[in-house]
Amino acid sequence: MKVYGAIEAGGSKFICLVGIDPQHILEEARFATTIPSETLSSVVEFFKRAAAGKNLAAIGIGCFGPLDLDPHSPSFGSITATPKPGWSNTHILTTLQDALHTPVAIDTDVNAAALAEYTWGAAQDIDPFVYLTIGTGIGGGGIVNSAPLHGLVHPEMGHIRLPHDRQADPFDGVCPFHGDCFEGLASGPALHKRWGQPAEELPENHPAWELESRYIALALSDLVCTLSPKRIILGGGVMQNLSLFPRIRENLIKFLNGYIQSPEILGNIDEYIQPPALGSRAGVLGALALAQFGWGNS
Ligand code: ZN
Repeated sequence: MKVYGAIEAGGSKFICLVGIDPQHILEEARFATTIPSETLSSVVEFFKRAAAGKNLAAIGIGCFGPLDLDPHSPSFGSITATPKPGWSNTHILTTLQDALHTPVAIDTDVNAAALAEYTWGAAQDIDPFVYLTIGTGIGGGGIVNSAPLHGLVHPEMGHIRLPHDRQADPFDGVCPFHGDCFEGLASGPALHKRWGQPAEELPENHPAWELESRYIALALSDLVCTLSPKRIILGGGVMQNLSLFPRIRENLIKFLNGYIQSPEILGNIDEYIQPPALGSRAGVLGALALAQFGWGNS
């Protein structure tokens, strides 16, 4: 029987597993993200051991970025210029493919999470849809025409620009490239710096959450108007505060101001904007789906 490998390659840890689907996970391990040679050696050793005696058909990687996903590029499947020390220009796909002699598919961590939700989670057969993660950073991916959304490079939905009323919110933002882009204003580190305490310690009645919900709803309004998604899934550490969801839904309807006439939004907003069904497992399960369906290179 065929089995598949999955790697959720994150900035602090790599989660690796061998399995078939969410109900059939055979082996799983986690390794700290230290330097590429050390972390990737641990990953290779894991798959050699976990897949011994099994028919490992392919491995999928949902990886932190930015990534080179152009199949015609000589550095296809590598991490490009990342602020993560030591990881710039790491050829993660070829390193694993050469060491394990197994086909490897790669995509962004958010596209992998989107694929998992599309395959097994809260967006099954919903096409197109958008998956946004709002945590240490903000990233967006999605499924369009049955495949993960790609482009010139890959979408960077966390860096779209939002209206920023500096009288109401004089905070400059934390993005090293743009200051007050979406990630600069609404990521976990932005919340921490603006309010002087981590997001998870801010009480539910703190004004931080209304402001946060407005920024997220502004971003969603842009995404609704550009991609016309049939559903939006919001995951990531900041979205662990579920009280954000009703505020975001309300603000989105307010910002769209009746212009988008869809019963999915106006009559079914609780389903239109929802948390991931797979929770924090979306990333690694998305990598499993990538391996299985070979969609990573399309
Ligand atoms: Zn930015």
